[in-house]
Amino acid sequence: MRVWGLLLMGWALGVGVAMAQSTSTNRLQVVTSIAPLYCWAVNVAGDRADVASLLPPNVGPHDFQFRPRDIRRVERANLVFLNGLGLESWFSRVFYNRKIPVRIVEAAAGLSTNQLIQGVPDLEIGGPKEDRDHDHDHDGYGHGDGHGFGAQAGAANPHLWLDPLLACHAVSNLVTALGELDRANADYFAERGCAYVARLRALDEELRRGTGALKSRDIVTFHDAFPYFCRRYDLHLVGVIEEVPGTSPSPRYLSELLAVIRCDKVSALFVEPQFDVKLARQLAKDLSIGVATLDTLETGRLTPEAYEEGMRANLRALQGALR
Ligand SMILES: [Zn+2]
Repeated sequence: MRVWGLLLMGWALGVGVAMAQSTSTNRLQVVTSIAPLYCWAVNVAGDRADVASLLPPNVGPHDFQFRPRDIRRVERANLVFLNGLGLESWFSRVFYNRKIPVRIVEAAAGLSTNQLIQGVPDLEIGGPKEDRDHDHDHDGYGHGDGHGFGAQAGAANPHLWLDPLLACHAVSNLVTALGELDRANADYFAERGCAYVARLRALDEELRRGTGALKSRDIVTFHDAFPYFCRRYDLHLVGVIEEVPGTSPSPRYLSELLAVIRCDKVSALFVEPQFDVKLARQLAKDLSIGVATLDTLETGRLTPEAYEEGMRANLRALQGALR
């Protein structure tokens, strides 16, 4: 009896372990970088893939550093969904030249040169490429200086998620990859992808109508995160306060920027919740103009609706400041 009991217990334990393994391995494991990518992925994945964000809600791509447990999370995943265009320099640094059996999909993959906005060559800082790569250990990735590890002079601006129609492109990249990795659920992911793209198109329409009615179309933002947004909605990006996030602009740069702001009669400076805004508030005071907040969505809540809510909040901020 005792032997049977032990055998049965062993069998039951074995089944338990096997069941736990099958439930955790049947569903694709997806890890994502910035918050918008998480939102898009959970909307496509539904209940047939597990999505987890590598970045905590309060840490942006500028400041994120891989910890050993993050490396293990990547290595255990089936698919990693990144923005690309050098935004995830920390990822490239860790996994460069390391073979991992994980599919990597980039939101930016397949975008043509015309769809991308190239960095301004004048802002290129530093010498040979090797030196610039080392510099990025300090600032995460540089805006206007090629955006990170392996980036080339004049590399494209990475902030494509702030254009909902480029977001549709990213979602279709993800749908394709999920369907290839899990053929049994390919139709499910494709249907959910179509439904989410329809929502993104509705969001685009709403932004188009809302920004179409703005009185002023000149904006100054804190860092160079909105060129795709401005292009899509016909706004004029007069300038940015910090050419490189986290690096104070030089007095000469600031005085040139102030002159342009006065000349173009810009009515508000747009700061970001992610950065220290003291400098922008002081500038706005000196210029006697308003300060409002435009969220780059580089950090934020990890919920399925957060991307759309963030974009709508930005529209309200523009409507409030550019009346
Ligand atoms: Zn940025």
